[in-house]
Amino acid sequence: MNVDMDKTLKRRILHFFFPNRCPVCDAVIGAMDTFCDECSGKLQPFTGSFTIKDAAGTAAAFVYDRNISPAVMLLKNGVCGNAAYALGKALAVKLRESGIAEKADIIVPVPLHKSDKRIRGYNQAFLIARELSDELGLPVGEGIVIKSRRTHQQKRLNRHLRLINLKDAFAVPEASLVWDKSIILVDDVCTTGTTLGKVTSLLLENGAKAVYCAACCKTPALKKTSDEENPVQQNLTSTAK
Ligand SMILES: [Zn+2]
Repeated sequence: MNVDMDKTLKRRILHFFFPNRCPVCDAVIGAMDTFCDECSGKLQPFTGSFTIKDAAGTAAAFVYDRNISPAVMLLKNGVCGNAAYALGKALAVKLRESGIAEKADIIVPVPLHKSDKRIRGYNQAFLIARELSDELGLPVGEGIVIKSRRTHQQKRLNRHLRLINLKDAFAVPEASLVWDKSIILVDDVCTTGTTLGKVTSLLLENGAKAVYCAACCKTPALKKTSDEENPVQQNLTSTAK
């Protein structure tokens, strides 16, 4: 039995006992569905582009807005439900369309600090990475990058403080695992891109061949005059990095 059949069967059996639900509105949906039709129609696919310093490419599935935020909250708050599957599957489509998937060797989730992971019980970026792995047939490199100290929430800081906040916050314990590898670095939401940029630089310093940054959701472009006054962002009750 191949991985796809195995996963399909598991989802169908699970669906029999615990019906699959839309991660936005909680309506019951089919075992292999991602969102209900109504929510699906409201979600805004990310069609623009964004750059992360030193990254060879980027991809995002949705614009981060009020319509998608319940799914992201579900993913972050421990009631995972169908959120990782729905968001991961949409991101896998973008990674295939953009040509990034075929260039990559490994998927690396943005890590949480071990004490944050203990509190939450899991790393939401890892859940997305695992879905991407199933869809794209690439291995997940959990632990390839670790978060070596806790940091403040990035969204409350200006650009200067964001960079200071993340200084030496990440580490690659075993450089041989990234040497000459093309890596998809994955996170749930990309806001300013500071975290993805920091980890990208670190992977390249440790010998990675190329790093592609992927996020399920990308916040709308920030205003140039004051990047802390984006109304959409402020109204989202998010812990986005
Ligand atoms: Zn729905």
